[in-house]
Amino acid sequence: MSGITRRTFLKVAGTAGALGLVGCSTAPSKGTKAKVVVIGGGYGGSTAAKYLRLFDPSLDITLIEKLKTYYSCAGSNEVISGWHDLEWLRRSRDGLRTKLGVNLVRAKVVEIDPQRRLVSLKDGTDIPYDRLVISPGVDMRFDAIEGYDLNASKLIPHAWKAGKQTKLLINQLKAMRNGGVVIITVPQNPYRCPPGPYERASLIANYLQKFKPRAKVIILDAKTQFSKQALFLKGWQDIYPGMVEWISSEKEGRIDHIDPTKLIVATEFNVHRADVLNVIPPQKAGWLARKTELADPSGWCPVDPHSFESTLIPNIHIIGDACIATPMPKSAFSANSQAKICAASIVDLLNGRQPGPPSLINHCYSFLAPDYAISINGVYEYSVTEKQLVATGGGETPMDADRGREAEFARSWRENITSDSFDG
Ligand SMILES: Cc1cc2nc3c(=O)[nH]c(=O)nc-3n(C[C@H](O)[C@H](O)[C@H](O)COP(=O)(O)OP(=O)(O)OC[C@H]3O[C@@H](n4cnc5c(N)ncnc54)[C@H](O)[C@@H]3O)c2cc1C
Repeated sequence: MSGITRRTFLKVAGTAGALGLVGCSTAPSKGTKAKVVVIGGGYGGSTAAKYLRLFDPSLDITLIEKLKTYYSCAGSNEVISGWHDLEWLRRSRDGLRTKLGVNLVRAKVVEIDPQRRLVSLKDGTDIPYDRLVISPGVDMRFDAIEGYDLNASKLIPHAWKAGKQTKLLINQLKAMRNGGVVIITVPQNPYRCPPGPYERASLIANYLQKFKPRAKVIILDAKTQFSKQALFLKGWQDIYPGMVEWISSEKEGRIDHIDPTKLIVATEFNVHRADVLNVIPPQKAGWLARKTELADPSGWCPVDPHSFESTLIPNIHIIGDACIATPMPKSAFSANSQAKICAASIVDLLNGRQPGPPSLINHCYSFLAPDYAISINGVYEYSVTEKQLVATGGGETPMDADRGREAEFARSWRENITSDSFDG
């Protein structure tokens, strides 16, 4: 925040914004188009830009993304397994411009001034907004595990952002000896894509079974239980017997340190030597959200789930992995679902209406093999008594369900979410 601290700003703004009651204050004057700026063109931001246009054709919508190429994390474990090449993960937002008239700007946002309602780009350009949506994704906590910092991640991939990191992990797996050990370390919740590390272990095992059948995968988990646990454990037993070993923190304690040159992970009770090491570190909201003081001490951004407006700074909405939408998991599906609620509520607020109670969904598929997938789903609504989202329904793939059918559903889900989030 330029010039003033957030605390001073809230004094200036009063508490109305923090309570989500600022709708009327941001309505543009008659005859001018309301300006909505969206920062981050991933699953959350692209969906928000699209649905803002679908819900209100009169808005002036600008979507700002810093990367030339966005590679989807969802699907990246399949690329690691060798089912597709990296280009298959590339997502284009051109349709948002050509079909829906969204202004696409490629630039890094370096500053947000909530008082003047301005977004500043790296080249010095200022873009004004009436309402701002940010979906900046996550940053790795490079200070959380001794020995694992940004430099170490160039040797030891996290591959928790798709692109260069994905390629690094693939190359290391290809170079590994038959009989080698792949170690994946998994952080405590919350982090991006709770079942993702276990899907990764499965799909690395799928690759090893074909090309290095004497190798194995060890998962060193900071948790004592994990998403879709019984389904994953059964899958590993059935299709990768003896190849995938999950070790909970109950047995090993926490990770003490990592030696990135010797490929060693030392836990409280043991020392493990890997041939390929994949460290998935703890995470936090993307840099811009933290710089703007939209994050609380947890590192994530508190929001009012009716509109996903920040509870710390008015007129700014945070969606996707960066926001706290507990008990929703941090997933592409959640980001897409939150973006739609956020877009509808912004249109309400700009027109002087209070957003109604939200209802959101999430459905996460995980592949274990090309013809074997499992899933978990949830429905989330606002609880007036708990003053937050609560799960009102949900379930998992039944133990006796056809995993081949789930794999077909998983493939069609991906086509649908890609089109729904990125196409015009
Ligand atoms: C291995 C793996 C597998 C996964 N599989 C699935 C799955 O099967 N299903 C599922 O639902 N989810 C899955 N996910 C999770 C999913 O990828 C994320 O939850 C999703 O990408 C979150 O969307 P987002 O918009 O919050 O962030 P992102 O998609 O990361 O988008 C954030 C964007 O903001 C941009 N940005 C950040 N800061 C700035 C700035 N200052 N200026 C301009 N632009 C900026 C970034 O460049 C980025 O493009 C998976 C994740 C991983 C790691």
